[in-house]
Amino acid sequence: MDSTLAIRARGITKCFGDIVALDDADLDVAQGHVHGMVGPNGAGKTTLLGLLLGLTVADSGRLEVFGAPVGRAFEVPGGVAGFVDGPGLYPSLTARQNLAALAALRGDDTRSAGIDDALEQVGLTDVADDRTRGYSLGMRQRLGLAAALLGKPRLLVLDEPFNGLDPAGKKHIHGVLTRLAREGTSVVLSSHRMDDLEALCSEVTILATGRIVFSGPLGKLATENRALDYRLLTSDPERARGLAADAPGIHLADDTTGRQGGEVLVVRAPVAALDDLVVRLVHEGVSLRELAPVVSPLEAAFLALTEHQKNDTRQQKTDAQQQETGR
Ligand code: ATP
Repeated sequence: MDSTLAIRARGITKCFGDIVALDDADLDVAQGHVHGMVGPNGAGKTTLLGLLLGLTVADSGRLEVFGAPVGRAFEVPGGVAGFVDGPGLYPSLTARQNLAALAALRGDDTRSAGIDDALEQVGLTDVADDRTRGYSLGMRQRLGLAAALLGKPRLLVLDEPFNGLDPAGKKHIHGVLTRLAREGTSVVLSSHRMDDLEALCSEVTILATGRIVFSGPLGKLATENRALDYRLLTSDPERARGLAADAPGIHLADDTTGRQGGEVLVVRAPVAALDDLVVRLVHEGVSLRELAPVVSPLEAAFLALTEHQKNDTRQQKTDAQQQETGR
């Protein structure tokens, strides 16, 4: 048993009838990190988060949270809180009453359950006595997080927690989650927003059709030797273009950024070749004013890995069909 792990999953498979939602998934999530789950619709993210919250049980495999096996009963493992498919609220109650009801259900003393503190953390103090029926999606998401924070969980499990949050709300919740992780809480969240994941997560898991195709530090995706498209803005675009065309490992790519006039140069290159090009430009007296990937390393890796997985699945289907007809 590794005591630094919040989650350890081995060979987790979960089917709904013929649908394989999770297929032999192995996963390690370190404690005290914000860990992002990303994947196309139907990849299995919510199913995995649901297993962690005890909302469903795996058909096979072993799942541990803080070293303790997650049982085969439908119950929230100790120290875990969160929501999938949006937080469940009583619309006719106020936010404060919702949290009090939740605390009472858990058998906690509502006066000492930390309701005011949770409401304050998520920025709902001013509307705490309004009925949640009138809450916007973003406000409901905030209240869902407040509900999860009530029991001071060691592991927070949040399915799409930024849905409906305006930019200020998102920044606020990013701050809350970052602080919680710094204080030792482990956070696992799913999102379709790469910018949220990149801003928040130190580690990510990429799922595609029930399989984990990558799990590890975000930085590892960026440094893997995969060519990405980069946008370069220099003091001498013509000269930069000429130098890039001659540089090893660099390919001139189409400018998809919409900044026309030859001012912006788009190159496709692995990181090492890009580093060499930058040195060369500077050496030749061409100043670099801007350098950025056209899509982020996470998005590029996500698209490449999931495309790869789709091709594998297609190939497996073709092989199976050929075997079938050859019989
Ligand atoms: P999204 O990004 O759309 O939320 P997801 O990655 O969270 O997708 P899941 O909700 O985990 O994906 O679904 C994985 C697969 O399992 C899908 O094919 C889905 O249709 C199926 N599935 C999930 N829950 C059930 C259920 N209760 N009954 C039947 N099928 C289900």
